[in-house]
Amino acid sequence: MEYFALPSKSDFLRDHQAELTKGVKMYSRMLILRFPKAEVGKPIVCFLASEYNLTFNILKATILPRKEGVMVMELSGARKDFSKGVRYMKEHGVHVQAVGQDIKRIRTKCTHCGACTAVCPTGALSVKRPEMNVLFNHKRCSVCGLCVPACPPRAMEISDAGSVVLR
Ligand code: SF4
Ligand code: SF4
Repeated sequence: MEYFALPSKSDFLRDHQAELTKGVKMYSRMLILRFPKAEVGKPIVCFLASEYNLTFNILKATILPRKEGVMVMELSGARKDFSKGVRYMKEHGVHVQAVGQDIKRIRTKCTHCGACTAVCPTGALSVKRPEMNVLFNHKRCSVCGLCVPACPPRAMEISDAGSVVLR
């Protein structure tokens, strides 16, 4: 997928952005982006840099079994550009959520299907054998948020205090 294999940003673009943001107070947030199936192949993230002067650092990008794309990234730029960039993504059907400070598993909702263990980058979610129960080690969790959209019954939840769906 195009935006899942982004080329490293050129020095020219980086210098250009540094020039544009000189003296402007920068705004930065860790985001979880959920791309609908129809938008997965489009270079939406590239436009954040070229059209809105935003910089990004992608921590994780994956395609879920149901073909939805999920990306965790830090997005930075001038506040006005940041808002425009978020609006642009939402106009393209991308669900934009700011990563929260904490994450929890709602035990009563968890079916131990194991889907979250495939996307968890830190091993905080793992399968205990031979019982095949899914364990959640809170201490290893980086709150990247990838398990949230990966969980079919939505048993993983980011705390309300730090998580907002950006509008
Ligand atoms: S994806 Fe959700 S339901 Fe499945 S094991 Fe993980 S937390 Fe439980
Ligand atoms: S939020 Fe925590 S448990 Fe969920 S995928 Fe990220 S590191 Fe793993």
